[in-house]
Amino acid sequence: MSTAPFHDLRPWLRHLAETDRLTITKPGVKLKHEVAAIAKRLQHDSAVLCPSPDGHDIPVMANLLCHRSWFAEALGVSESDLLERYRTAAENPIACNEVSEAPAQEVVHEEVDINRLLPVPTHNELDSGPYITAALLISRNPRTGEQNVAIHRCQVSGPNRIGLLLLPRHTLAFHRVAEEAGDALDVALVIGIDPLTLLSSQAIAPLGQDELEIAGALHGRSLDVVKCRSNEVRVPANSEIVLEGRLLPKTFEPEGPFGEFPQYYGARSNQHVIEVDVVTHRRNPIFHTILGGGMEHLLLGAVPREATVLSLLKRSFPNVRDVHLTQGGVCRYDLVVKIEKRSEGEAKNVILGAFGAHYDIKHVTVVDTDVDIHNPNDVKWAVSTRFQADRDLVVVSGAQGSKLDPSTDKGVSAKMGLDATIPLEADEFTFKRIRVPGEDEVDLDALAHPDSASLVTQMLGD
Ligand code: MN
Repeated sequence: MSTAPFHDLRPWLRHLAETDRLTITKPGVKLKHEVAAIAKRLQHDSAVLCPSPDGHDIPVMANLLCHRSWFAEALGVSESDLLERYRTAAENPIACNEVSEAPAQEVVHEEVDINRLLPVPTHNELDSGPYITAALLISRNPRTGEQNVAIHRCQVSGPNRIGLLLLPRHTLAFHRVAEEAGDALDVALVIGIDPLTLLSSQAIAPLGQDELEIAGALHGRSLDVVKCRSNEVRVPANSEIVLEGRLLPKTFEPEGPFGEFPQYYGARSNQHVIEVDVVTHRRNPIFHTILGGGMEHLLLGAVPREATVLSLLKRSFPNVRDVHLTQGGVCRYDLVVKIEKRSEGEAKNVILGAFGAHYDIKHVTVVDTDVDIHNPNDVKWAVSTRFQADRDLVVVSGAQGSKLDPSTDKGVSAKMGLDATIPLEADEFTFKRIRVPGEDEVDLDALAHPDSASLVTQMLGD
């Protein structure tokens, strides 16, 4: 049996297979919509491996991480320790270890035709075409040599051309440094990587912090990296596939539409362009795709955000116990906070603090410690029975929100907070949740009548 933490993609897939969570399809499924359709049907239950999609030599894999418990499993921690483990790793990075030879470079292609070399799927109905969605975009600050890792949606625009959306974050900051000097930015796109390194790419870390060092901390040892063949970027030695290239200065081409995490399309517009120079890969590599707006896409954003928001809130509010970004809130917009309330009014301060923790957070619900924040019905129950709109509601107008939320005015958004905590002065009886003593201890097997079938006849007739 393979055991955690999983340092490589293949032992993780083997582990999923051994525990009946890897579906291998018949050969030859279609890259246009069919891979995505299969991945979507199985997105809560099973990883998917599609051999020779459209006759390609390279298989496509999806649903590497389907459930938050899988993240904990890959790391080798309990689900309740997941956020704390992630936060500790993000705050204690481990430097990478450079090697000169790597599986990622066993095969080198200097003639690049992306759709011929790689099985790139088309996911949602109105997507403009094939998209590379699970690539770690690793860039290198040309002045300092610091690296950055992020995932961007990558449209295959031509044989060696990729159109990508850069939000105003770290990749764009490095690009501006190169652009000011009139240069392209050296980049690498890494497709097919172990689950922990994949998760590290989503850390909300300061600019200049190489997320591969956070990957090292998640692994509990330095990550082996290798220098690209055509540029100075360092990539994980165990990568399945690497596209080496340059993010072009002052170059914009049409990109989109593309189905995104809010379950709507990002529109077509002029965006940045990467020119790919070299493709390297392992012998017999595996191509990973993340379904746009699917569970893996949502969860990859959720876990690191929850860890960061929890850590930020705890600094100001030591009574905060846990946070959860709900699936209905596309794992970005709707936050539930559990507090051990000590002062009246505290929940409203927590609400305001949460709005400041990340601009994507639009709705915040604060509940007491007896509420299961991972159960939407329990949260709804707390709101329905402990919240009064004229007293417990916080509304902020005209704040920064998510540009991908179609109800905002170009990203300018209202915020709403709900204090669903019990008033401190309430007597203990009024808000005491009903409970049947002994429910949890009932042993259903020991309880069953030894001959229930004949008893049914006897008591109820034929
Ligand atoms: Mn970064």
